[in-house]
Amino acid sequence: MNKADCVIIGAGVIGLAIGRALSFLGRDVLVLEENEHVGMGTSSRNSEVVHAGIYYPENSLKAKFCVQGRKLIYDFFHKYNINYKKLGKIIIGTNEEELKALELLEHNARNNGVELTYLNRIDVKKLEPEINCSGSLLSNESGIFDSHSFMLALQSDIERNNGAIVKKCRVKGGELNKNGIVIKIDDKEESKVICKTVINCSGLGAQELSNNFIGINKNKIPNIFYAKGNYFYLNKKAPFSRLVYPIPGKHSLGIHFTPDLSGRGRFGPDIEWTDIINYEVDSKRLASFYSDIKKYWPNVKSEMLSPGYAGIRTKVNKTKASDFIIHTPKETGCENFYSLYGIDSPGLTSCLSIAEHLKKVISSA
Ligand SMILES: Cc1cc2nc3c(=O)[nH]c(=O)nc-3n(C[C@H](O)[C@H](O)[C@H](O)COP(=O)(O)OP(=O)(O)OC[C@H]3O[C@@H](n4cnc5c(N)ncnc54)[C@H](O)[C@@H]3O)c2cc1C
Repeated sequence: MNKADCVIIGAGVIGLAIGRALSFLGRDVLVLEENEHVGMGTSSRNSEVVHAGIYYPENSLKAKFCVQGRKLIYDFFHKYNINYKKLGKIIIGTNEEELKALELLEHNARNNGVELTYLNRIDVKKLEPEINCSGSLLSNESGIFDSHSFMLALQSDIERNNGAIVKKCRVKGGELNKNGIVIKIDDKEESKVICKTVINCSGLGAQELSNNFIGINKNKIPNIFYAKGNYFYLNKKAPFSRLVYPIPGKHSLGIHFTPDLSGRGRFGPDIEWTDIINYEVDSKRLASFYSDIKKYWPNVKSEMLSPGYAGIRTKVNKTKASDFIIHTPKETGCENFYSLYGIDSPGLTSCLSIAEHLKKVISSA
């Protein structure tokens, strides 16, 4: 049987960030990824936004890791020369009720240590003349970045620290034995790996994978719900210079505008509960995109929008907003087995602080 020190399952932004942090601790890191490249899952199907930490309830893991992670990730961009733009963002209220919601958001953000500036309708017109609103909040800390270069930089650090990333390698499950945790790639004896530490960072597959490990505390594994987020591209030059967000919903931030680094604009993601992983965007969703966008951008025309791409959020709850879940041996019931669940937005922003957290927990275990 093969031997390994620390195995991370899944080379998305979370697995790579944790692998990198542990490789700097001197651990021998092996990242196993089922796809042929890193970051082909949710980590490449998102808005590539660095979030400030405005929305998440005070003391939630999302609030804590987003605010810490945002600072770490901007430092990382400087140090590793990753392309980013701190464009800033405005959150828009279009009526009295939404202005009240903005007040609550501002209060929540302040509790999380995030400063926002209130702008009235005239202030907004000066900054973003095409926007129609009654008032808005301005966040100067929000930005966009090149998530692919970021992930490649994480991968390079792992490899520089003598770690390895093995692609096209799907982990089926595993079991505990007296010498450690045995990982099964397939049923052949020669493709089993015995490891000291295992961290399940397999995103949409995390619950299924934990269920396939014999000896893990199954009753602690949370539920999983898929919340697909569709995007529509804007087929003309973007009329906004900042990120533009409506008032958020319970499970999503509302159909917002973000440009990519080349300046191409897109709207989304919306929310579509689904049981399957299917990334096609149904063009019939155009009507609801158009009516949502028109509320804050009256000049939008439906022919300016075309189906783009989609990502799938992993949610642990369908009835209320869900938080990140990080299971340590206390919850998994298995010494040295860690598992992350429900890492949806702001997972990109938070990845470096989640990694720092796990580094501390694992090094003191
Ligand atoms: C529509 C959308 C928009 C978002 N926008 C933002 C944003 O703007 N800003 C932000 O901060 N966050 C955003 N997020 C959240 C962010 O994208 C995720 O939190 C983050 O990408 C999760 O990374 P991950 O590594 O956990 O998952 P993934 O990137 O999915 O990585 C998991 C990896 O595990 C691999 N894997 C799965 N099962 C196995 C197995 N059995 N064996 C081996 N490998 C396996 C998969 O192939 C995959 O590569 C968004 C998410 C969505 C869906």
